[in-house]
Order: sequence, then structure tokens, then C-alpha cells
Amino acid sequence: MAVSACHLESDAFLVCMSHALSTEKEEVMGLCIGELEPSRVVHVHSVIILRRSDKRKDRVEISPEQLSAASTEAERLADSTGRPMRVVGWYHSHPHITVWPSHVDVRTQAMYQMLDQGFVGLIFSCFIEDKNTRTGRVLYTCFQSTAKGSENERLEIPIHVLPREAISKACLESAVELPRILCQEEQDTYRKIHALSHLDPVTRIHNGSVFTKNLCSQMSAVSGPLLQWLEHRLSHNQHCISELQRERQQLREELDKL
Ligand code: ZN
Repeated sequence: MAVSACHLESDAFLVCMSHALSTEKEEVMGLCIGELEPSRVVHVHSVIILRRSDKRKDRVEISPEQLSAASTEAERLADSTGRPMRVVGWYHSHPHITVWPSHVDVRTQAMYQMLDQGFVGLIFSCFIEDKNTRTGRVLYTCFQSTAKGSENERLEIPIHVLPREAISKACLESAVELPRILCQEEQDTYRKIHALSHLDPVTRIHNGSVFTKNLCSQMSAVSGPLLQWLEHRLSHNQHCISELQRERQQLREELDKL
């Protein structure tokens, strides 16, 4: 039986968005951690960003090791929150293309559903320009796979982003992990190329500068905005603390008068 809806917490949504917007050249992906409620609503509490071993423009794959590491992380979260957390879905980005799942996506989703009926797929389409307003557009969708004859078909699942006042520890950890993972991916690619012995010195210098340039673009696209966002949260929290302290002082004064 298909799930009835997907509730994505706003801080988890933010991590997905930062990840999706980190590159417009290839698709990125991750796993969703949360719980399947008795009403068959999938509630996504946090996400795990997956490191890609092989960057391809239009393919994303999850290795069994990554899936098992994600399950361990879900167990850790279940222990700390006291809620039955597990891996409830996967997400990936569609840079420059429509939000709808491809045939490969629907097939992959069907495979996950064979293991877990409540598993969902999320897609974030970005770097698309709205022709009328000439502004960037971000679209997202949640889907499951349903059998039609011998084929599998996309089944759209209603998705709602739930506002959250605070950011959860798990989401904060994932957000901070993002620049580190992206940097590691660049390093892996660079090391592979650098190990090729037949390259002449000019090509080597060129490769080195491409590596530096990619790291710089990441800093401006991901690390910079992330830092800004965290600083903004910090000042917001400090403001809340001073408000609460003022309130406490007032209450104490009132108490003293009695
Ligand atoms: Zn896709």
C-alpha cells in the first residue's frame, strides 16, 4: 500500500536544498531518516548526504555500504530521540531538468519498495529559469512506484514542508558535513588524475588550477551561504536569550514585590 503523504521538516529541507544547489553539473543524492507514522505519513526528520564515488551527469547510485551506514546512523538517532527512526527514503537532484522522475528513477524506486513498502523518493529540480519572470526556480516532488502491467509507473505523493523553529542536531551535523564531503569528492577526482604518469607538466599545472578553481566555487556556492545562515541563526538565538533573560528579570521583580 502506498504512503499517504510525506512531511519534510524545514531544517531537513534546507540541507537537501543546500546540497542540490551545490552543483549544477551532476546529480547529487542522499538518504532520508525519519519514521512511518501509523497514518502512513512518512515523516522526514533529517537527511544524510552521500559521497559520490563516481560523478556522472544523470546517474545516482547508493552502495550497500552507504545504506548500512545510514541504518546505523538512524539507530543512533533513534537512541538519542527515543523515536523509532530508520531510513525512510532517498533524495536526489535534477539540475537543469524537470522535477519528474526518469524511467531509471521509477525502476530504482520500485527496487527499494520491494525491500520496504513505505520507502519514498524525493527529487529537487534546480537551476531552471522561469520563462516569464526570468528568475531561478526550484521545484520538488515526492514519489513512489506503482506496478502497471509489466511496467512501473510514477505515483505522486503529496509533500509538505513542516516549519521548525529550531534546527535539530542531526540536521546541523549534516549541513556542516556538506562542504567537507564536497571537498573530499574534488580531492578524490584530482588525485586520480594526478596519479596518471604520462601527463606533461603544463597539463599537470592546468589540472591543479582546475582543482583550486572548483574548491573556490564550492566555497562561494556552499560554505559561504552556510556560514552566513549559521551566523544569522546565532544572532537570532542570542536575541532570544536576551529576551528570555529580560523576561526572567521582570518575573523576579514581580515576585519580589509580592
Ligand atoms: Zn532522477
